[in-house]
Amino acid sequence: MNIVIFGPPGAGKGTQSNLIVQKFKLYQLSTGELLRNEIKNKTSLGNQISSIMRNGNLVSDKIVGDLIEKYVSNKLYKSRLIFDGYPRNLIQAKNLQDLLKKYDQKINIVLKLSVNLEIIKKRISERRTLENRADDNEEIAIKRFQTYENNVKPVIDFYKQSNLLKVVNGEASITEISDEISGLIESIKG
Ligand code: ADP
Repeated sequence: MNIVIFGPPGAGKGTQSNLIVQKFKLYQLSTGELLRNEIKNKTSLGNQISSIMRNGNLVSDKIVGDLIEKYVSNKLYKSRLIFDGYPRNLIQAKNLQDLLKKYDQKINIVLKLSVNLEIIKKRISERRTLENRADDNEEIAIKRFQTYENNVKPVIDFYKQSNLLKVVNGEASITEISDEISGLIESIKG
């Protein structure tokens, strides 16, 4: 199965994806992490995107689309992917649909983690001391939250139409959230 997990910055997508990966033997595809690696390795792509990311803006749909195609087209990951941080807007949602179709796959469930801005600010300031990410200061975190809010509505509607969307309370504890998500995944596995 393929899973999409999305939610605002600091919602815990990465944490939950990790847990799902272990439990259901899937591969995590985090676009944010792939992009940060490009910057860390100082690739030409990394140089192109570093200021975009540092300012809390989205990298172009083409760049992220090309990155994820490498995984979707790889037989090793066929129908075993969890998309963490992708899609982030309607164009990406439609691109993902087309891409999966091209490789004879589909999305089985879309998990949306809901968390309000006050909690996000608190989590991000805590994470900053741990991970030292260039985009984890309060001002940019708010910007990223707004970027998310501005783009997410059509994505939600898109997945609601196909009945794939499940909303999860991202303000609960890590274990509570993970139990809820596991239950949802089990229920569609049948
Ligand atoms: P968060 O969800 O906490 O903002 P991510 O690691 O998912 O963290 O993303 C960090 C940054 O990477 C985003 O602010 C954006 O610049 C870039 N990015 C990640 N995924 C995408 C995507 N699907 N499309 C465009 N840009 C992306």
